[in-house]
Amino acid sequence: MSAIGTALLELTKETKIAYFSMEIGVHNDIPTYSGGLGVLAGDTIRSAADLRLPLVAVTLLTKKGYFTQDIDGAGWQTEHATVWDPAAYMQVLPYQVIVQIEGRDVVVQAWLYTVQSLTGGSVPVFFLDTDLPANSAADRDITSSLYGGDQVYRLKQEIVLGIGGVRMLHAMGFEVRKYHMNEGHASLLTLELLNRFKKPIEDVWDEKLVWDRKSVKDLCVFTTHTPVEAGHDKFPYDMVAKVMGEVIPISTLQDLAGKDYLNLTMLALNLTRYVNGVAKKHGQVSQSMFPGYEIHAITNGVHSFTWTSEYFKALYDEYLPGWANEPELFVRVGRIPDEKLWDAHMGAKNHLISYIREKTGAEFSPDIFTIGFARRATAYKRADLLFRDLERFERIGSGKIQLVYAGKAHPKDEAGKKLIQNIYNYQERLKGKINIVYLKNYNMDISLKIVSGVDVWLNTPLRPLEASGTSGMKATHNGVMNFSVLDGWWIEGHIEGYTGWAIGPPPHELTPGADADARDSEDLYCKLEDTILPLYYNSRHTWIRMMQNAIGKNAYYFNTHRMMRRYVTEAYIR
Ligand SMILES: *Cc1c(COP(=O)(O)O)cnc(C)c1O
Repeated sequence: MSAIGTALLELTKETKIAYFSMEIGVHNDIPTYSGGLGVLAGDTIRSAADLRLPLVAVTLLTKKGYFTQDIDGAGWQTEHATVWDPAAYMQVLPYQVIVQIEGRDVVVQAWLYTVQSLTGGSVPVFFLDTDLPANSAADRDITSSLYGGDQVYRLKQEIVLGIGGVRMLHAMGFEVRKYHMNEGHASLLTLELLNRFKKPIEDVWDEKLVWDRKSVKDLCVFTTHTPVEAGHDKFPYDMVAKVMGEVIPISTLQDLAGKDYLNLTMLALNLTRYVNGVAKKHGQVSQSMFPGYEIHAITNGVHSFTWTSEYFKALYDEYLPGWANEPELFVRVGRIPDEKLWDAHMGAKNHLISYIREKTGAEFSPDIFTIGFARRATAYKRADLLFRDLERFERIGSGKIQLVYAGKAHPKDEAGKKLIQNIYNYQERLKGKINIVYLKNYNMDISLKIVSGVDVWLNTPLRPLEASGTSGMKATHNGVMNFSVLDGWWIEGHIEGYTGWAIGPPPHELTPGADADARDSEDLYCKLEDTILPLYYNSRHTWIRMMQNAIGKNAYYFNTHRMMRRYVTEAYIR
């Protein structure tokens, strides 16, 4: 038997949790992720490996990645395909499975990437790929682009991920004890399970399926990430019939996934025992969107070791040995001397400043208060809220503030592209007064540089649209405080003036009014001017206390080690 065969045989000895995600950020240079969802999936896997959990992951290869971002002189984003070579990172496996798409047999193969932990644990990640000579040119393209193409393209990808993924694990000999769907994209896997494990008897479909559903439900865990109805994948049934065919009878499918459209979230809700949102508030929002289903909440985290800069790693190694596999040790952050904490911060800040100089030529000062804002460029995140009253912002910040931005807009998100362009315009308008840079091609490496190298992390989503948010958690691992709207995780992490600062009203006001921008920016300006800037420039001691709190109260809790332990005890072992 080949080495890879032996290795797989070893892997299949133990029953596994199979984690399915449309995107996974396993490595900065494997561009099969677009943002928060994929980075969370990567962090989930890294923690599972550290904790030696019996987990395997399934995703798509997306050979053209998400996209590479160019921004022209006028601040307008254009895109081109990312070129990368899977063979440089992973191994193709000697297994092929077939899925039916538009009545054709489409062959799927898998590549293996292993996430290896220093603890000796590891998690295999299977990247599904249709780029095989046996397939037509169009079918070879199914696993090319992440979130590219039209609805039909998306449905084809979801067939490969859900149905192809289950078949692949089966072909490799895995015995799976739970299927964890990270967002609804993977929920077609439930149909394969209905068919695979409990074959229905021809003439008593419905009766038999009631019983079937229970077995499938017991096997499935579903994490929903989207707090708006429009964000859930939906396909008209004529399209489903044409592309997917009758995997189960259409009337049964309508019963499970919605009368008018195949709604992947509904399908997952109906065939899952344990459903959760990704922060307490998001759990409640999801519960009100889907009455009749029990929706729990497990708040997201980040992988502590991945999201801590070299400067803070050295500090934690010295004062909190063992922290990376036991982030609870952050509770003892008070052991770190103030000047060492500050020096580590300045190390990370200077590192970011040299990166900015190298990429943009801009000269940032290590002595000026620096705000970071980096995430997907899309309207609800309101990247330009800071500039709502330009004169006021200029008065508050002239000579006292520097700003670092990054983030890609989805190629079809015109409003997101407009946001990037607005920031380019403000950069011109404020030249010589407030230094602003927009770093291109936001990815995991750039994210670590920014979250660790700024003084404050800003987040201004329109409530309740930020399901959780994770970049702010990365910041706290580097002693960087959050200054954010009370939505998602920050509702749980925020203690005013202690771990950071809130922007706008308390979270119990459910839906913001039309004046949300005005109210939020008013609060933002007032706190910046009256509280945050004076504290930064005049009370270094108090500032460092707050940095400690960010680590000891926020990083202590908002990490994927804690999150995975909760998934194990509340979702996987039941
Ligand atoms: C962490 C991360 C995100 C997610 O940031 P949010 O604050 O949750 O929006 C997106 N993209 C990259 C590259 C990241 O590293």
